[in-house]
Amino acid sequence: MDRDTPLVALQGVRKSYNLGQPNEAEVLHGIDLVVARGEFMALIGPSGSGKSTLLNLLGLLEPPTAGSYRLQGQAVQGLDDDALTLLRRRALGFVFQFHHLLPAFTALENVTLPALMAQGRVGAADEQRARELLAAVGLGQALHKRPSELSGGMQQRVAIARALVHEPPLVLADEPTGNLDTASSDAVFGLLRQIHEQRGTAFIVVTHDPRLAARCDRMVELVDGRIARDGLPDATRG
Ligand code: ADP
Repeated sequence: MDRDTPLVALQGVRKSYNLGQPNEAEVLHGIDLVVARGEFMALIGPSGSGKSTLLNLLGLLEPPTAGSYRLQGQAVQGLDDDALTLLRRRALGFVFQFHHLLPAFTALENVTLPALMAQGRVGAADEQRARELLAAVGLGQALHKRPSELSGGMQQRVAIARALVHEPPLVLADEPTGNLDTASSDAVFGLLRQIHEQRGTAFIVVTHDPRLAARCDRMVELVDGRIARDGLPDATRG
């Protein structure tokens, strides 16, 4: 990808649910959004404003009803499911509020799972990268522990390592600290910032927490399916 090509470029993106049915409803009304490589952006807005819908579109989990989406310069429209899956694997990492770790697998196995699913096997290089990432998130001593043996914050750090193991240029995080107490939440958020600074990974973080939004470099606010504000975070909120 050309250095100047935006990581994400949405133009006039609309999303309706229940198309063609009596209960059809448009929930995103023409979103224009450009995200550069290496940005660290908060996506905020009231409940029902369309944040999850937008994140699902960005994550190639749902198609827009209208408008265009280019991810790493590649137009997403018209790609079939296989092509979408490949693009998603190459370009995106996901962190959710609930970590979705597999309980029967160790931390290390959970982090190598994406490689297993993509290639049918875990290569030595995959395992090495997973070990390094778990060490980087402070879990070098917990490689062989299962999720039930880890605290909530530690489980979320395993999920972050898993989201990063294939070195995606963009991580989409939906309330990544929503399930954690304040101290763990601060630690997990600090880890995201650290990864961003060390690796240049871009983040789009959906959060309800004004303290966390204030610690991002850019804050985009959705209201009723439109971008109501886009700029520097409001420091007074922190
Ligand atoms: P947020 O994440 O900001 O709370 P959502 O993107 O979840 O907002 O929802 C935006 C609007 O879209 C809401 O009015 C919600 O009811 C509606 N919506 C979300 N998902 C669906 C769906 N699968 N089918 C129909 N309506 C939906």
